[in-house]
Order: sequence, then structure tokens, then C-alpha cells
Amino acid sequence: MIIDCHGHYTTAPAAHTGWRASQLAAFREGGRAPAYPAISDDEIRESIEQNQLRLLHERGADMTIFSPRASAMAHHEGDERVSRAWARACNDLIARVTGLFPETFAGVCQLPQSPGAGLGPSVAELERCVTELGFVGCNLNPDPSGGRWTSLPLTDRYWYPIFEKMTELDVPAMVHVSASCNPVFHATGAHYINADTTAFMQLIQGDLFADFPSLRLVIPHGGGAVPYHWGRYRGLADMLKKPPLSEHVMKNVFFDTCVYHQPGIDLLFEVVDVDNILFGSEMVGAVRGIDPETGCYFDDTKRYVDALSLTEADRAKVYSGNARRVYPRLDKALRARGL
Ligand SMILES: [Zn+2]
Repeated sequence: MIIDCHGHYTTAPAAHTGWRASQLAAFREGGRAPAYPAISDDEIRESIEQNQLRLLHERGADMTIFSPRASAMAHHEGDERVSRAWARACNDLIARVTGLFPETFAGVCQLPQSPGAGLGPSVAELERCVTELGFVGCNLNPDPSGGRWTSLPLTDRYWYPIFEKMTELDVPAMVHVSASCNPVFHATGAHYINADTTAFMQLIQGDLFADFPSLRLVIPHGGGAVPYHWGRYRGLADMLKKPPLSEHVMKNVFFDTCVYHQPGIDLLFEVVDVDNILFGSEMVGAVRGIDPETGCYFDDTKRYVDALSLTEADRAKVYSGNARRVYPRLDKALRARGL
């Protein structure tokens, strides 16, 4: 079985994204957002079948851990109340996808974060999504200011309420920023990769996993710049008098394979333990084109993993075993289906 740990509903029906535009317009004008539009099951089916489902089958994967479009979370827009309504609408839509395609999609929720606001609403929404909608994890934005980096590091006690709830529910978070409102950071080309790298360094500087030994964080996009600079991070941990990375962070931190070329995947597997790598493609997502050098889609990441000389046992870990370990609620659901 092949589980893609990183997919977003980037092809959501236009009425959903249109509602978001109206919601933000109403916020700016001081009015009330319109009622959420009716979206039919057929519209949802079509948006999935022609895109994620088709590509999943063409590329030979079986299922996707699926969350709302990350770049549209835009926690920096509106206020706390706006973020709450938007997260709820996005998560309810994901629940409809997982309801229509229960064998193919497992839900991961967007949190109603807002710059400077407490995490109470995020804790409540995570609980709702896991206990009522059957979701298996969440996306946690380390920078809800959208590229201004006004939040405290992930190791600060500010974040503890969400980590406590994640621990209680036994769900992981993917550390995932959203759109950038800072023009110096291109969203998917700079802000995403910066955030992945920044989060990892925060985890080295702090001691989060001493307080949350079972907490699990997935750092997407191959861990940002971390694998390429692995020696730098090992050296910094040493200078900061921290234990080796294998003990200090890598019992709790995982990287996906959203690295869109073979040499990058080769490097990832050379420096990061296979137990810490989850197959992911972020399809249909950030980089949608065809690589003229290979004639294949950049984000067809299974091709790169297939090209590695892994043992069958290691390949099974990357394709499904690690994901089932990091997302135990998904594992439980699969077991219930005899898988
Ligand atoms: Zn993503």
C-alpha cells in the first residue's frame, strides 16, 4: 500500500473559494459574511476524480492524507472570528471528500489560528475534526502572520495547548505555513522552505520533546534546507550543548518526500534515517508542470523513490509503515478495513 502523506484540496469547487472572497470582503466592510453556498456531492466528486484521484491512480499510489489548500489558510487575513469560520468551512469540505472517498482520503484539518490570538479555538477545532469528523492530524502554521514571523518559536509555551491536545488525541501535525503577505518571500518557493528550515532550528534550540515525548511533527517539502545542511544542524546542536539530533529531535520529527528532483531525494535518503521519511507528493500543489529534462511531472515523487536502491522493508516503511506509525488513527482505520 502506498500512502501519500501530503495532499491538499487545491481543486475545491469555485463556490468554496468564492465564499472566502466574500467573507473577507464583508470583514473589510464591517458586514456579515454571506451564508456558505450549497455545493453538491457531484461537484466535489468531479473536482477530485479529474484531479487528485486520477493522478493518484496514474502514478500508482493508493491513498492521500488530505487537508485544505495550505496557501489559502491565510491566517493573517481577517481576524480570529474570520479564521474560525474559514477553518470550519474548509474542514467540513474535507470531511465531505473523505465521506465520498473513504478508501482514498484521510482528513487532516486546518486550524483557526490568527496572529497574536490564543490557541483555544485551534484546540477546539482539532478536537471537533478528530472526534466528530474522523480526521487523523492537523496542519500547524508556525507563522500565522504570513511571512512577518511575529509568533513565538514552536518550543514556546504559547504553543503548548495545541501540543497537549495533539498528545491527548494521539495525532501529529504537519508544520505548514500558508500564503506570504511579505513580498520578499514567494509563498511556495521561499516562505514554505524557510518555514520548514526555521521550524527545525527552533526544535534544536528548544527542548520541546522533553515535555512532549510522544509528540510527532512532520516537516514537509523534504525538511526544507535541513537535509542539505545536515552537518550545520548537527554542529549547531553540538555548540548549543544539545544531545545528538537522533535523540534530541529525530524521535519526533519526520520529513516528507516533496523534493522535486532525483538528486534531492538521493540526498534526503543519504542523510536522514529511513524511519523518519514519509512518502509525500503535495499533489496537486505547488509545482504542477512537467520537467523538460525528464518529461515527467516534477511532483510525481514516487518515481524518485522508486529509483532509490532501498530494501523492500525500507521501501514499505517510506510508502506506508512510517505514515501508519505517525498517524495511528489512520492505521487503526486501515486495520478495521483489514489492511
Ligand atoms: Zn503542502
